[in-house]
Amino acid sequence: MPGTKWVFISGGVLSGLGKGLVSASIGRFMKSRGYDVVPIKCDGYLNVDPGTMNPIEHGEVFVLEDGGEVDMDFGHYERFLGITTKFDWNLTSGKIFQSVIEKEREGEYLGKTVQMIPHVTDEIKERLENAAAEEDADVVLVEIGGTVGDLENMIFLEAARQMRLELPDEDSCLVHVTLVPWLDAVGEQKTKPTQHSVKELESLGLEADVIVGRAENNLEQKTKEKISLFCNVPEKHVISNPDVEEVYRIPLNLKEDDLDEVVCDELDLRNEDVDMERWQELVENLEDPEDEVEIAICGKYTKLEDSYVSIKEALNHCSAHLKCGVNYNFIETTEIEKGEKTVREALEGSDGVIIPGGFGSRGAEGKIDVAEYCRENRIPILGLCYGLQLMVAEFARNECGIEEANSTEVDEETANPVIDLIPEQKNVDAKGGTMRLGGQFTEIEEGSMAEEIYGKSDIKERFRHRYEINPRYHETLEENGLRLTGVAKNESHIVQVVELQEHPFYFATQFHPEFTSTFEEPSPVFMEFVKSCMEG
Ligand code: GLN
Repeated sequence: MPGTKWVFISGGVLSGLGKGLVSASIGRFMKSRGYDVVPIKCDGYLNVDPGTMNPIEHGEVFVLEDGGEVDMDFGHYERFLGITTKFDWNLTSGKIFQSVIEKEREGEYLGKTVQMIPHVTDEIKERLENAAAEEDADVVLVEIGGTVGDLENMIFLEAARQMRLELPDEDSCLVHVTLVPWLDAVGEQKTKPTQHSVKELESLGLEADVIVGRAENNLEQKTKEKISLFCNVPEKHVISNPDVEEVYRIPLNLKEDDLDEVVCDELDLRNEDVDMERWQELVENLEDPEDEVEIAICGKYTKLEDSYVSIKEALNHCSAHLKCGVNYNFIETTEIEKGEKTVREALEGSDGVIIPGGFGSRGAEGKIDVAEYCRENRIPILGLCYGLQLMVAEFARNECGIEEANSTEVDEETANPVIDLIPEQKNVDAKGGTMRLGGQFTEIEEGSMAEEIYGKSDIKERFRHRYEINPRYHETLEENGLRLTGVAKNESHIVQVVELQEHPFYFATQFHPEFTSTFEEPSPVFMEFVKSCMEG
């Protein structure tokens, strides 16, 4: 794609340095300059997508508008850039190998020995170039997962090397994100790990143009000098990326150290100053709130907070816009169902409760207990996906007198399956990418809380589920006061929003509004929820 600029982002020393946030920040600078940005993430694992991984292992599965289940870095890209990303922009080794092997079986390489180079690298390059061409991208960010030196990411780095060789110098730039640890014993920032990781990169034929050093504090002058000297980059190209309380501060810090200018120079792009004033204001609101609320997130993947990262971020967005500190507490509902804690004890001090999405029976009864407690004690409660389903099961049991009402996901033999598989899901056995996924329309009932929240009667949000409220029970639920105020705008008529009137905030969605919340445009559902927690 002539004219497209390519920024490759690699990581060194160790994982978890926030490469995705550096990519998202660079994307933000470029987007502010009016460029069309395409962020791409390369993941070394052999899963075709992360949809089948346990969130405790891999963090949240982020769901895209087009139904793709992707790495959670896509959440950062969308929240920072306010763009809609695509499934094709997440390359995994699984996806790449699957396609190469399929092509081999179809005879596309007939007569040839199919090899890592050129066949696998060509597949990667072709996909990168196609994404750029399809979007008519001005800037493509290619974030390469893992750490330089990991076997499983090597093939993506090799593809990057080949592309950099083929592209004119001014069309590509390599940003290497590394760790610069502070050694207490000598009172010094140490650059050796960075030097080693840059050498490792060089041994793969890749030279870093920019080095972003993640450190507790800003990089000291002498640290920058040393990295510049030993890693062969101008001193101005060594950028500080200090620890932050709020991830939205990162683009401001990186800009402060001129990362945007340096990348523009490298790519021969015009370098007018980017206006980050509104962004800065929002970050300051986050850091210096005037009010405070406590939210309990009651789920079962609480051991890894990354499992609920989009929910946490949606709350942070509200925090920035409402100038209200939102503290979240993770409550493990398995502890409630085992009787280790009562709901009252678990929710002590909480102004509001979220029952997030989830799968399987473990922790489900605990969530049902939480739902009952919040409904009866008028505590604001927001149910998301599985949260909605279990709130409905609770309502059916306790308000409609439907004994042992349950989801067939929890109890396959239940006499009262108020939550059951969507009919099209009944014959689905394969697990990868087979749920009801992605953006779907909901028709909202006039005069409902949902309409008030969204300010319109027709909305599009993202889904990831197999179960729904069983249509057989719609009437009984409504007769007993549960309002089914949002229904799928197609022949499936799946109920997608439920609410209660005589309650400060009892609202649940079959979709995941957290996936469409961005820093500059928070989700209206989360905003109204937090507002009602503030009033409580
Ligand atoms: N397990 C439920 C279903 O498949 C809910 C899924 C979710 O919360 N994402 O419908």
